[in-house]
Amino acid sequence: MDYYKFLPKTNCHKCSPNTCMAFALALLKGEVKIEDCPPLLDLKYKKNYESLKEMLGDEEGQKKELRIDINKDLCDGCGICVTVCPVNARYCPPTLSGKSPDYPPEKHQLFEVKNGKCELLNLKHCRRLESEGRERECRVCETYCPREAIKIDYQ
Ligand code: SF4
Ligand code: SF4
Ligand code: SF4
Repeated sequence: MDYYKFLPKTNCHKCSPNTCMAFALALLKGEVKIEDCPPLLDLKYKKNYESLKEMLGDEEGQKKELRIDINKDLCDGCGICVTVCPVNARYCPPTLSGKSPDYPPEKHQLFEVKNGKCELLNLKHCRRLESEGRERECRVCETYCPREAIKIDYQ
């Protein structure tokens, strides 16, 4: 959202991500440069362009990898991240009612609580990494963790 607020927000479709929200995510991941948004080069958006340049600095255009960090000191093992992650819900609907996923963790499960602490199992199945144009800007686990123990980032 930090990047999005400086984009024209017109969804003019002149960039390859095709919408301003998708462009903001691509900027975050280092997949596009600010100049890939033609309207931003217009004088009308000069201040926005400069703000984005300042925010991105030397890291602009550098491809970044998704990270989901779990702070074990903050985590109390409540399991909410296991039940709210839509990947778990999709492949194992009982998680929606608070049950533990009952399929082998190596299949798709993202999170598991072990010995009272949450562990990240399969980052590659996160919706943010789904390919073929189906990538989602999911942030459910981070949003719903009551202890603010989950941080989603690109590094
Ligand atoms: S070119 Fe710029 S204004 Fe147009 S959709 Fe892409 S980010 Fe938005
Ligand atoms: S929701 Fe947060 S506190 Fe609860 S198990 Fe997951 S990471 Fe830990
Ligand atoms: S970002 Fe979404 S899909 Fe990825 S681990 Fe968190 S809740 Fe699951």
